[in-house]
Amino acid sequence: MMSQGAMGLSGLLLAPTVLPAGSAFEYALKGQELIQKQDYHRAVAVLARAIKLDPTSDWAYGLLGRALRELGRSAEAVGAFRQAVRLNPGDTYSRMMIDIMTQKPLAGPRRKTKVDAREEQSARREAQAMAQKLNADAGLGYRVNRVVIDAGHGGFDSGAVGLNGLQEKSVTLDLARRLHQTLERQGRVRSFLTRTGDYYVPLSERTVIANQYRADLFISIHINANKNRRAHGSETYYCSAKASSKEAARVAALENSALSYDEKRQRKQGYIDIEQILTTFGQKLNWQESGKFAVGFQDRFKTELPIKSRGIHSANFFVLRKAKMPAILLEAGFISNPGEEALLHQAGFRAKIVDAIARGIA
Ligand SMILES: [Zn+2]
Repeated sequence: MMSQGAMGLSGLLLAPTVLPAGSAFEYALKGQELIQKQDYHRAVAVLARAIKLDPTSDWAYGLLGRALRELGRSAEAVGAFRQAVRLNPGDTYSRMMIDIMTQKPLAGPRRKTKVDAREEQSARREAQAMAQKLNADAGLGYRVNRVVIDAGHGGFDSGAVGLNGLQEKSVTLDLARRLHQTLERQGRVRSFLTRTGDYYVPLSERTVIANQYRADLFISIHINANKNRRAHGSETYYCSAKASSKEAARVAALENSALSYDEKRQRKQGYIDIEQILTTFGQKLNWQESGKFAVGFQDRFKTELPIKSRGIHSANFFVLRKAKMPAILLEAGFISNPGEEALLHQAGFRAKIVDAIARGIA
């Protein structure tokens, strides 16, 4: 199985495809969107095109591996992942996938194997290198060039819903799109979206996307909710092992609630949590750095939004914890508060939120 890994790839690249013209990057981006929409057949065609245009794109190979794997074309998928690792030895995700796909499915509790030990060692090395890089960046002053914007929830996961029926998932998507447009127009920072439509992306997948884009900031956009309809205002969160307050723990539980679905899905796929190892080193440095970013963003919310500032908090947010870059989660008001739900309906208020976030990035 392992030696046949690369077979089939060349044939695949020659497959005739009728597609509009575009750059390799655009095709890869389209491929990623199709994977998120679970349209794996079209994703394979688009990604093959991306690779034809740029055979050095480890990103496109990694995505191709994911699409092929979903189609059950395991040998070809392993071939694509191997190519991704050849082009970029630092591609932990593809290495993890090769590992998962070339060993027997795990049954019962996880046991340590030789492969695990080797993987653990290389993950450690990578984490150390990452920590060094972060320290170097901190010395020079962190500059954001690429930001990944995550619209919270989506698809079956509507997020919180207001009394008048406004859904968190649609507000976050609109805010994310507007922010993307604003940043593109300003031209100082490149931005990417974890979802561009009303579909669900697993929480862990969202940071995998950020890591693949090599973003230097990850922003997850959410709208808060509380049984107490009087609760109102904006908050900024970053990741920490322990919640900074009971309320922070409650918000994290709310935002992590799709997790039970994700975990079931991962168990079915025989996932090994190698990335968990990474948490011990570099991640914690990222978390500290995220705290500094959180201060800046909440300052903008405080001065630019006509709602109360509830300050900065930290808790264990699953969507943030695996990011290899500073990552924050914004709660831009309470959808459960009728006054703020009405505000969130308004284009003018949404524009204010977007401007505040854009200035926070700058
Ligand atoms: Zn949310």
